[in-house]
Formats: sequence, C-alpha cells, structure tokens
Amino acid sequence: MLCSNCFESEYHNAHISQEIVVNGAKLIIPDVECNQCPNCRDIILTHSQSLEFDRKRILLEFGEKELLTSQKLKLVRSILGLTLEDMSELLHIGKNTYGRWERDESPITYSMNLLVHNLIDRYPIAKNNLITSVRDKLLRECLVYLDEKNISLGHYMHKTIDKLHLHLDTIVIAASTDIDTLKKILFIQVKPEVCDPLATVKIAKFFQLSFENLVELLKASAHVFRMSSEISFVHTRKSDYSSEMLERQQKNISEVLEKAFMNEADLGAANLISEQYLARLKKCFADLEESA
Ligand SMILES: [Zn+2]
Repeated sequence: MLCSNCFESEYHNAHISQEIVVNGAKLIIPDVECNQCPNCRDIILTHSQSLEFDRKRILLEFGEKELLTSQKLKLVRSILGLTLEDMSELLHIGKNTYGRWERDESPITYSMNLLVHNLIDRYPIAKNNLITSVRDKLLRECLVYLDEKNISLGHYMHKTIDKLHLHLDTIVIAASTDIDTLKKILFIQVKPEVCDPLATVKIAKFFQLSFENLVELLKASAHVFRMSSEISFVHTRKSDYSSEMLERQQKNISEVLEKAFMNEADLGAANLISEQYLARLKKCFADLEESA
C-alpha cells in the first residue's frame, strides 16, 4: 500500500520500539510489529497488529495478568454470585459479548481481562480460587494438616477446601479432572486403588503434596473406606450424588469415621494399597514432574 503521508513509497512490514507515557513516565515497548514507510517513517497498524500492540501496552502498564479462560470466567461469576446480566452491567458491555467469552466463542479482550482481574483482586475468596500464585501459597500453608495423626486424603482435602473456601470447580479446572473423580476421592466413595492414578496424582499436585505425603494420606483413606464399607447403612445410600443433602450426609459420615479412625492406634501393618498401584502413582508423579 502506498504511503498516505509522503506518497513516495510502499509500506513495509517492520519491527519498531514504541515509546508510551504511563503516569508521566516514558516507557518503551520493544518489538512492535507494524507497517512502516521506508521513506518518511510513517507507521500504520493492521487490526491484528494494533491488538497485539494493545496487549503489550497493557502488560507493560499493569503487569502480567493471566488471560481468563471461559471456564475461569464462569467460576468468577459463580464465586461472586453474579448473573450474566450483573456481570455485563458491571463491565459495561453487552450481555451477548460477555456470553461469547463464557461460551468460549471468542477470547476476552485484554482490557476487559484486566477489569475482571481488578474485580477478583477485591475478593479474597475469588483470589484464592482464581489466582494460582495466591492459591499455591495458601495451599502450602495447609500442609501443616499433614501432622494430624492418620489423616486421610479425603479429610485433608476437606479441611483445606473449607479453610481456603475453594470451589470444587477450581480443583476440577486446575487438576484437569472431572467432578465425579474428585468427589470419589474427596468423599472416599471408592477404594483409593479404583481411582485413576493420574487423576489422583494431578489432584495431589494441586494440593501441593509430595509423593510421600500422598502415599500416607491414601493409606489412611483406604482404612477409612474399609471401615465405611463395614457399616451397612452406608451401603444403602443411593448412587445419586447430585443431591446436596446426600452429599452433606456422606461428608458427615466420613467425618465421623475419620475421627474414630484418627483416634485409633497406629495404622498397623496392614497395607491396604498394593505395591503395583503405588508404583503406578509414582510413575505418574515423575511424569508430571518432568513435563512441568
Ligand atoms: Zn512515506
């Protein structure tokens, strides 16, 4: 395209450093892709170049804020208890535009991403659930619960979830698992060995547990599961876990069992988890460590 400034030359693709002013201070944005006239140095940006420039400018101005995925946007809204209408009003945008981001039909814009982050920053519970660095730090603080005698993985998770007000979806998203698997482990609905080792390891990693921590917790879970299967009324529970009441009841039962169990003597020699399963867990743990 012919330069619209000097009419002497065609625009060429170029990479330049652009100066911007933030709060009175001059900052340089390096490596801005643009189209430049070699003759008069006039610059024009295509639509995608201008979006990229905007992104770099926002990053420089406000620091790196992870781009919120559709899942995370849904989670933000659910944690803050807002409807689609509330959220779009709050952001001063159309409900359809916001809806498209949640449905993953288009990515959230950088400026709106920043606005939602500002919202998250104001609510500790939202922060605990959505900001990885904040969450990981708090999760590591919960590792003191490991000192409790005979604590099971399910009980450890319950305590941590309650303490940090974690949303189950947060764990599902971060550990890339599904809600059913998570609940099986959390409520000790099945023998630990029945759970996919990779899913178990991913959840353990979310909770910042080491392999050794995980093994100890799972051994305790296996004991709790055995105890629960010895109690007949637990067996009569329905397989429909969707009801909230049923879930609470289940949680209560497992808590009573946990308490009884934790007061018991040592776990004893009986190892309720096979060496094969432990080996599979260990492999998954090492594989994930490597890919990280
Ligand atoms: Zn020119």
